[in-house]
Amino acid sequence: MAWVMSRTILHLDLDAFYPSVELLDDPRLAGTPVIVGGLGSRGVVASASYEARAFGVHSALPMAVARRRCPEGIYLQPRFERYRELSRQVFSIYRSWSELVEPLSLDEAYLDVSHHTASGLQIARRIKQQVRERTGLTVSAGVAHNKLLAKLASDMDKPDGLTWIREREAAAILAPLPVERLRGVGPSTAQRLRDAGYTSIGELATADSDALGRLLGKHGTRMVELARGEDQREVSPPGRPKSISAETTFDKDIYSWAEAAPHVRSFAERIAAGLERRDLFARTVTLKVRFRDFRTITRSYTAAEGVRSPEQLLAIARELARRVGLRRGQAMRLVGLGVHNIGSPEELQARPDLRAPQLRLFEHD
Ligand SMILES: [Mg+2]
Repeated sequence: MAWVMSRTILHLDLDAFYPSVELLDDPRLAGTPVIVGGLGSRGVVASASYEARAFGVHSALPMAVARRRCPEGIYLQPRFERYRELSRQVFSIYRSWSELVEPLSLDEAYLDVSHHTASGLQIARRIKQQVRERTGLTVSAGVAHNKLLAKLASDMDKPDGLTWIREREAAAILAPLPVERLRGVGPSTAQRLRDAGYTSIGELATADSDALGRLLGKHGTRMVELARGEDQREVSPPGRPKSISAETTFDKDIYSWAEAAPHVRSFAERIAAGLERRDLFARTVTLKVRFRDFRTITRSYTAAEGVRSPEQLLAIARELARRVGLRRGQAMRLVGLGVHNIGSPEELQARPDLRAPQLRLFEHD
């Protein structure tokens, strides 16, 4: 049976972030429409407070138009240094809840909180409270089993919202929305979809994916999945590990590869999961063995292209072990497995420094 663990993803979006910071720093602005953006003749609105939005002022609007629509507004130049400072405070709250935080901007992030015993709703509620107490800002939260729906959810009850889209409700919530609400559907794609008779997400969900594929290429098939609320994308934190490894020191020395293999297999599985979570591959696999006399050897193999399945990693480890030439009855106190030269398949392909295949032996005391 295929078993897919259900995930819990939060999308957190600070409400009218720039104007809210301005309000925080100058309480006299309370109740006034606040517009932050470029004040020059060609400036555009970066962000407008909810009071200003009531006048039809929104981000990306030319400043000249905004001033006509809302003459009584307070117009301010952005203070990015201050916004970054508050953003850092907010993100440190997020990171106290999960290592898997993916920022989208200063004021938006995805969190994967699948590992928590508390529910997504409980966590979101606590995070909202902490953000308010520690910074004075409000954040809208969406809770769902994937990124697509979490982001949709955070937008449903702004400001200061908290919305959970349950898996069984997803289709019904998506169906009536216009196609533009779907990720990756810009104005021109939306027009092509409308011309072809698709106006709502529900219509896309029941569309023949071949027909949509003909209309929009590869993108079309993907779109049918999204319209059905299916989204497998991982929450991927920025920056990536240079290497991933695991090792263990045995309570009692071991004497053969057969005894080491189950450990190495579990390392391979952990490393594979770490790569998969970040959607990365590795080209170099290293096996490490430390003998009873503390002599330590590492052997590395650089593959022609990125690998990441536990089977591939284990097969390489087995071959490296063979070449280490473990003598029968030789006492080992530690084994470890690691990978480096990590990246996307494209990035790894473009690494001329990694002539492959390569086998390297390092021996140190
Ligand atoms: Mg925001």
